[in-house]
This record gives sequence, structure tokens and C-alpha cells, in this order.
Amino acid sequence: MAEETIFSKIIRKEIPADVLYQDEMVTAFRDINPRAPSHILIIPNKLLPTVNDIEADDEAMMGRLFTVARKLAKDEGIAENGYRLIVNCNPHGGQEVYHIHMHLVGGRPLGPMIVG
Ligand code: AMP
Repeated sequence: MAEETIFSKIIRKEIPADVLYQDEMVTAFRDINPRAPSHILIIPNKLLPTVNDIEADDEAMMGRLFTVARKLAKDEGIAENGYRLIVNCNPHGGQEVYHIHMHLVGGRPLGPMIVG
């Protein structure tokens, strides 16, 4: 059984977060340390630590991350100019919180791929 992170507490509303969207599959909230004018995290409600833990049964839930990203990008007014979706995996991917999360980042030109 994977160890819970602070994100499980956010899903259960046990700690404060700026939650923008929640349904039976996913939760979205603003990143506490935004790197751009819009920086939102979209996470599955089910605890999967990393992309390496995704199973075929999780495909609908993981797909939901994208449809919610699309909706939130529109709500934020950044859909037309564009944005970036990022999922980090394990230490070399720069992952800090071991509950899968998709970063939705936009609101300014982001330049080429963020690496390093
Ligand atoms: P990653 O490096 O991909 O694991 O990203 C983790 C992200 O979670 C970082 O951008 C943090 O700023 C963000 N974060 C950590 N704790 C919280 C929190 N309590 N509420 C919102 N965002 C958080």
C-alpha cells in the first residue's frame, strides 16, 4: 500500500487548498508555489505514487486529467494562447510529491521545454 501524501488530505478537504474542480475521479487545485500566472495541479483521487504505477484499469481516470486540464485552461483564459501540461516521474523527473499530478502551467510564454 502506497504511503499517503499531503495531496490525499487536500482531496479529503482536511487541509486548506484553492480547489478549482473535483469529481469522483480527480481533484484540481492551485499550486502553492506558482511558477506562472496560472499554475494548477490536477490529480487522480486514487493514490498512485508515480506514472510507473498506472495500470490499464486507470486509463479513464488518467484521461480525465486531460479533459479537466482542457476545461480549466479555458476557465483561466489561457486556452487560445496556450499552456503546458507536465507530469514528473521519480527523482530524475524532478518529482517531489509521490501522488501523480499533472501541472497545468500558463499565462505567459513558457519558452522551450522546461528542463534543468
Ligand atoms: P513535483 O515536483 O512535480 O512533484 O511538484 C509538486 C508540486 O506540488 C510543486 O509545484 C509544489 O509547489 C506543489 N505543492 C506542494 N505542496 C502543496 C500544497 N499543500 N498545495 C498546493 N501545491 C503544493
